[in-house]
Amino acid sequence: MTFDPRCKALLTRLAAVHDLEMAQALSFWDQNTYMPEAGAPARGRQQATLAALSHQQMVSPELVGELERLERQVEDFLPGSPERALLRLTRRRVDRALRLPAPFVAELSAHLSAIFSAWAAARPADDFSRVAGLLERTLEYSRRYASYFPEAAHPADPLIDEADEGMTVGRLRPLFAELRAGLLPLIAALDPGQPDPLLARAFPIAEQLSFGQEISACFGFDFKRGRQDLAPHPFMIRFSSGDVRITTRVNPTDFSDALYSTLHETGHALYELGVGPAYEGTPLGGGVSAGVHESQSRLWENLVGRGRAFSSYLHRRLRQAFPRQLEDVDLERFYRAVNWAHPSLIRTEADELTYNLHVILRFDLEVEMLEGRLAVRDLPEAWRARYQSDLGLCPQTDRDGVLQDVHWFSGLIGGAFQGYTLGNLMSVAFYRAALAAHPEIPAELAEGRCAALHGWLREQVYQHGGRYTADELLLRATGAPLSVGPYLDYLGAKFGASPGDRMRM
Ligand code: ZN
Repeated sequence: MTFDPRCKALLTRLAAVHDLEMAQALSFWDQNTYMPEAGAPARGRQQATLAALSHQQMVSPELVGELERLERQVEDFLPGSPERALLRLTRRRVDRALRLPAPFVAELSAHLSAIFSAWAAARPADDFSRVAGLLERTLEYSRRYASYFPEAAHPADPLIDEADEGMTVGRLRPLFAELRAGLLPLIAALDPGQPDPLLARAFPIAEQLSFGQEISACFGFDFKRGRQDLAPHPFMIRFSSGDVRITTRVNPTDFSDALYSTLHETGHALYELGVGPAYEGTPLGGGVSAGVHESQSRLWENLVGRGRAFSSYLHRRLRQAFPRQLEDVDLERFYRAVNWAHPSLIRTEADELTYNLHVILRFDLEVEMLEGRLAVRDLPEAWRARYQSDLGLCPQTDRDGVLQDVHWFSGLIGGAFQGYTLGNLMSVAFYRAALAAHPEIPAELAEGRCAALHGWLREQVYQHGGRYTADELLLRATGAPLSVGPYLDYLGAKFGASPGDRMRM
């Protein structure tokens, strides 16, 4: 596929904006992997300069003029065509950029860099007071951001829309309420017991890393077009279709930490690696939304990585790689250990069943802060109160509480968390549709073969990049709009009281 030649001038301008953004992304990757701490102040300035430059280019008269010229000819392009999507997405980005004054963009970028560095020191020190003032400024910036979209029904809507186009507080609230109402009885019925001590056995760091990379490659990650490095907070980042990187962290006495975070980030990376190469450097050239992105990481991490079928392969390979640590561990014990469901304090370590409660409470707190009903100084207490009421646990430290996630300390408040739960809902919808098309998938996964599933996802999801909206993509691939029911059915079958109807996923 190539774009109509009439789009060439616009594509050239967009590619230049994209290059500046990728320079920023590379600088972010370095900041989060290898940069010495003392590099932080200059790095903040450099990122602000790059942010201002890409913003200038996005709203330049030349780029906007090209866009307007093509918009006048829009009828020449077929509905649903990549050209139509190109014009729609470019207009969306230009409009956003035009509404945000350049000094605001540069100031915000410098501020986010500063608060990120402050958080990186405040979190291990368990000292919220070191970031409270900066977080108040983030909240002001978030409100200012929202104020540039006065037509929005709720101040969180423009921030949510940025990550998950088409989503609003009005759409999310009933969806989350229904999910929460379905989750609470399942969680109340849990008999969590104790963690399996097998998860506390010693596993050498280098061997954990190479094992994770083996399974990542087994899923389909191409290490000739990507790499893995260590980072305190695992993430995936794309620089181009030939350079998609993942990071992980390793716990020497819990192999599941590095392994499943690697599988999670691999899911994100497979999506980016699968986007049609013709979309490179355009607004179509990447995952379409936070929610769809997370659907892919969660699908590979949980539905595959913690599912019955692939677990039997994983268990076999793990016992070969770590015979000393795992010789007495049979498949059933392994499966139960990596699917141990119990209320806990840390979102990224939460099991599938309780995970969404962590997300929903963050979403609620974001909305309350933006509405002015919750002040930053009261946030740690509000956090503790919600954990107590929702999960029956209260963090003893802010490190295990409000300081645990990077999101509010590296980005705006609002729109940062809903994608995780949307992703969980969509992961089950996509997986079911893949199974319906390819009933052989579970048997293949049990032998460590992922080609049928990966192929279906590439065809139905990955290759399209931003061509369709998240709602359109889900409907095309699964035949149904977003809903809570199938996801609750899946969780009920996996974690519910009657093991007889446990799904084999
Ligand atoms: Zn993720």
